[in-house]
Amino acid sequence: MSTSFTQAPGGKAASAPLMGSEAEPTLFELSVPGRSAYQLRTTGVPEIALEQLIPSELLREEEVAIAEVSERDLVAHFTRLSHRQFSVDLGFYPLGSCTMKYNPKFCDEVANMPGLVDVHPATPASLSQGWLELLVELEESLCEVTGMAAVTLQPAAGAAGELTGLLLMSAYHRARGDRRRRILIPDSAHGTNPASVTLGGYEVTTIPTDERGLVDVAAVKAALDSDVAGIMLTNPNTVGLFEEEIAEIAAAVHEVGGLLYYDGANLNAILGVVRPGDMGFDIMHMNVHKTFATPHGGGGPGAGPVAVSQRLVEYLPGPRPTRLADGKYGYAVPEHSIGRMHSWHGNAMVLARTLAYIKVHGGDGLRLVAERAVLNANWLRKRIAEHYPAAYDRVCMHEVVVSAGAIKKATGAKALDIAKALLEEGFHAPTVYFPLIVDEALMFEPTETESLQTLEALAQSLERIVAKAVSEPGSLAEAPQSTPVRRVDEARAARQLIPTFDAR
Ligand SMILES: *Cc1c(COP(=O)(O)O)cnc(C)c1O
Repeated sequence: MSTSFTQAPGGKAASAPLMGSEAEPTLFELSVPGRSAYQLRTTGVPEIALEQLIPSELLREEEVAIAEVSERDLVAHFTRLSHRQFSVDLGFYPLGSCTMKYNPKFCDEVANMPGLVDVHPATPASLSQGWLELLVELEESLCEVTGMAAVTLQPAAGAAGELTGLLLMSAYHRARGDRRRRILIPDSAHGTNPASVTLGGYEVTTIPTDERGLVDVAAVKAALDSDVAGIMLTNPNTVGLFEEEIAEIAAAVHEVGGLLYYDGANLNAILGVVRPGDMGFDIMHMNVHKTFATPHGGGGPGAGPVAVSQRLVEYLPGPRPTRLADGKYGYAVPEHSIGRMHSWHGNAMVLARTLAYIKVHGGDGLRLVAERAVLNANWLRKRIAEHYPAAYDRVCMHEVVVSAGAIKKATGAKALDIAKALLEEGFHAPTVYFPLIVDEALMFEPTETESLQTLEALAQSLERIVAKAVSEPGSLAEAPQSTPVRRVDEARAARQLIPTFDAR
């Protein structure tokens, strides 16, 4: 293999960093035949022909297309790309419902400890006592946080937790010889809820939201009968409000033999204040990547542990890490387990970060997380109310949904235009057009990690954007101007999906 560290002609390797909106070439575009990112010294050991190592009928006939770049160009390429990213470490990321809070580095350090990282998941229990203790302790901590009887750590994320919960519901009813077909879901629910219901083999019955922004209790009661397997409630709901009639709903659903599912993706709003187990819920998932600490988004790993009340413990996925009578740790499979939801222990490194976060905060600290997240959202709700009124103007929880409907009417600028203009102001966009029931929705989730100064800066940016929409009508439709990528054609991206690069 020839090695070259010189700039061969024809390569697009840029000597100066690419800034602004100039496109970063792909590695294939930077590729120069014969160039390589490594160099092997000569050893005197004779080369063995490939045919001597691998039967010739198993050898490829064509060369594999691999980009040929030097280490220097490779590093420069990824470093340039990294400078074009926006992240929680770089700035304010108020993407509602996603809880993009700053994640303390301490949690990463714990997850990087050699005693955790270097253990293969197939290591026998006798040699992985530390890991098993960590998992059992995390299950116990999550029981305490949620007020539930037991937890499975297997589900890979929130949506996987929902599916697990629905399979548990199904197993529970089936064990009673009870075939139920319907699950009630409020119309404000996260899109994963109805998708999970369908995957779980059930049908969705949609419950409307009333004028207060809460679940319409009368509609719940009218929809209940012996065909209802359960209800999925999100609390705080997706307009950021605390569901006030949970006790009444719980009693009515239990009355017809249904179960209550709690979508606890955004548990950071209630940590240390109230517990779903105490409200009468039977099953819940929590997104530990949102609630506690894990950098997520962009397809990064999450974990969606599912907690259950006593009557569902025997159906949990197994094998479960367990504390044995002699104080050591091992595994146990629940009697009527629904089986595995994930290989090994789930996304274990995310779980290690979760326990680190819980331990370093303690009970008082977790309560402070919730109090500050709620305080920040309410401060922002009041601060921007003049131009961006809350969709439901009452005390909110960890996030606030405002409507840009009036701005659109007056200036033509849409929620999407405002979100794009915010990118230019150095902020990540809020969630837009969700929940679907709010006209021109902008959903801000400040999280507890942002300072008063940051929130004030966001409010001032939002004011500047309205002023521009008024003084230069139509101008926001052109935003953003200065980001590496401007507006993408979302319809074309969805209709003509080309996820590969043709290297030939
Ligand atoms: C994020 C979220 C989910 C889905 O969680 P994933 O980890 O993305 O699968 C479900 N429900 C609500 C309310 C959420 O905010």
